[in-house]
Amino acid sequence: MSYLLNLAQIEDEMAKCMKCGNCQAVCPLYKETLREAAVARAKVQLAYFYLRGEIPATPALAEKMLFCLTCMACVESCPSGVQVDKVVLAARAAMERELGLPWLKKVIFQSLKRGKLFDAALKTGRHFQSLGLRYRPDIQRCNPRFPIGLELRRVIPPLAKKTLREQLPEINRPANKPRARVAYFTGCMENYIYTDIGRAVVNVLLANDVEVIIP
Ligand code: SF4
Ligand code: SF4
Repeated sequence: MSYLLNLAQIEDEMAKCMKCGNCQAVCPLYKETLREAAVARAKVQLAYFYLRGEIPATPALAEKMLFCLTCMACVESCPSGVQVDKVVLAARAAMERELGLPWLKKVIFQSLKRGKLFDAALKTGRHFQSLGLRYRPDIQRCNPRFPIGLELRRVIPPLAKKTLREQLPEINRPANKPRARVAYFTGCMENYIYTDIGRAVVNVLLANDVEVIIP
């Protein structure tokens, strides 16, 4: 059984931590917030106490586990080799089983399973996103206007006015005879949000005489 389904499987990782604090210096979230709870040492201890039943699952505890990029900078610098990313992910999964997901995430994850519904939802959402999101021109990103299951300080990129697939044809031919042909899987981020990156990818390929099919 995966450690994501059973936090106890990863107990050895938690027990390895000697609380030396080496992970503090490298954690990007600690550098920004100076919160001890952001440091791997704290998350590993909290996960351990939670596993042993010494502290209950609460939204505040879940929020502390969510406050991690799983960037593994702490793993790289840990003298005990604690796999902090696995501990954090397993603790998140265990708490999600106990507490459930915020309604917005539930809706998003359910719609991700249904491609057409997801597409329709995002295309509708781009017209109404300003109702729930406040655009910040200084960083060209948005913050939630009110608690919609997300932290109010969460920075979210806005949906593009036109999806990449609406902007580009299915077959993109270079000016010269093509020397290769590629299928380009746009994924959802480039299709719905970072369309400029998608267009740049296609332009680079076309400039190199590559035909680009966007299925
Ligand atoms: S560096 Fe490793 S052993 Fe030291 S406190 Fe952080 S997680 Fe624990
Ligand atoms: S994995 Fe999490 S705790 Fe470790 S350095 Fe990255 S953000 Fe910090």
